[in-house]
Amino acid sequence: MSIFKEIYKEIKKYDKIVIARHQRVDPDALASELALKQLILNTFPNKKVYAVGVGASKFRYMGQLDKLTDDMYKNSLLIVLDTPDKKRVDIDDLDKFEKTIKIDHHPFVEKFCDIEYIDEDASSTCEIILEFIYNTKFNLDIRSAELLFQGVVSDTNRFTTINTSSKTFDLIKRLIDETNIDFSSLYDNLYARPLSEIRLEGYIAQNLIVTENGLGYIKLTDDVIREFSVDSASPGNMINNFNYINEILVWAFVSEDKKNNIKRITIRSRGPKINDVASKHNGGGHERASGARVETFEEADILLKELDDLCKTYRSEKNEN
Ligand code: AMP
Repeated sequence: MSIFKEIYKEIKKYDKIVIARHQRVDPDALASELALKQLILNTFPNKKVYAVGVGASKFRYMGQLDKLTDDMYKNSLLIVLDTPDKKRVDIDDLDKFEKTIKIDHHPFVEKFCDIEYIDEDASSTCEIILEFIYNTKFNLDIRSAELLFQGVVSDTNRFTTINTSSKTFDLIKRLIDETNIDFSSLYDNLYARPLSEIRLEGYIAQNLIVTENGLGYIKLTDDVIREFSVDSASPGNMINNFNYINEILVWAFVSEDKKNNIKRITIRSRGPKINDVASKHNGGGHERASGARVETFEEADILLKELDDLCKTYRSEKNEN
């Protein structure tokens, strides 16, 4: 039996299903959980299905989340999406569920569910959900189609990431052909942003330090973040806009989150594999898109030095070939 059929069978079996995903939600994680909830309800209207986790106001347009309550654990199935390790799941007490399933596209970190389906080659979790739909009996409604489109577009950075494949395009083509969604209108919600963020982006462009090895970085203190009236998560929203700069191979934004007494680091790469460095500093992610959290700017400097070394090695290896 294919893994999709096996997961479908478990979904069919349980009357109560909770869907969760990683902390600090992003469009792929949120779209995949909200779409999967709707897909299950389309096919099995009598089931109780909940999409849980902490939301974010800027993604409110995607839909409403459910509050996890004590009665949701008993005799129920938990499906964790888009999360490679237990500590990053945006709910506690995973072991209280009767059965657990993980569906993810991150590099494997640990096994923490009874059934796990990991496709590291998939561009996004929404891409896996699309494949799941077309290999089982789920009925795709327009709203779920829109969400899945937004999740794929967002996680592939508009079909530019290395995990974007002909399969991604095939699935998206089929999605558009079969549902006729007005996809061009869906970019507005994903990409419209306040002028304050654009001004911060200008500040980053002006002040980014670029090393001779091709590391671009900036350290944003709480004062600067406040001056631009944004929050510590905002620099992460614009990290992808610094791709395709000739002089830069790897780039990282360090931003101070004073309230939680941490420095968040968001990192992207056009070549070197960065997730091992991120993992060493309370983080992780994909080969070319990672994040980390450190306690001090000194530790951030250590991480930046490691990234700079990666750039140096990568460039010298390229020159040798
Ligand atoms: P971001 O920079 O937040 O867009 O994250 C890029 C990738 O790194 C995503 O796959 C995240 O799930 C992962 N990531 C970001 N921050 C962390 C962290 N603190 N721990 C583990 N993975 C992370």
